[in-house]
Amino acid sequence: MDFLKAMQEDPLIVFGDEYFMKAALRQAELASEKEEVPVGAVAVHEGRIIARAYNQVEMLKDATAHAEMLVITSAANALGDWRLDKVDIYVTKEPCAMCAGAMVNSRVRRVIFGMSDPRSGGAGGALAITSFPGMLHKVEVSSGVLEEECKELIQDFFRRRRLENGSSKTGKLS
Ligand SMILES: [Zn+2]
Repeated sequence: MDFLKAMQEDPLIVFGDEYFMKAALRQAELASEKEEVPVGAVAVHEGRIIARAYNQVEMLKDATAHAEMLVITSAANALGDWRLDKVDIYVTKEPCAMCAGAMVNSRVRRVIFGMSDPRSGGAGGALAITSFPGMLHKVEVSSGVLEEECKELIQDFFRRRRLENGSSKTGKLS
């Protein structure tokens, strides 16, 4: 198939979910470098990334500053519309209840995530907010895209943090 023609018809065929998840992973790496829990997200509109964000809860001292919340606001700014019904959000970890709710309210078309969160995920892991029958909008969900890479980043982060906490404790004791 002609590359340019295929691009115009459906950029996703050319780039695919993994391409955009890699961009979300790069955001998560930025979070990790800043000692934030490494979750990253990008918003894609008609095959183009229109917004990127990573978790900034510590930096902004704001419990709502999850990557998905920031990327939703940024995507709405980019489009000049709060309705994101042609926007897909790629995020490295399953969105929590708050972020899944925000995706419903902003009418996000599809959410694609890497690592599942069976304990508190809001996109089917623990709760299915994205497809809750009473909601005005349902968000299509795809999971498990580059799951291992997404999971590894988070596990490494917490492993490192545990080690650091451990060594600082010993430091205080000695
Ligand atoms: Zn969240």
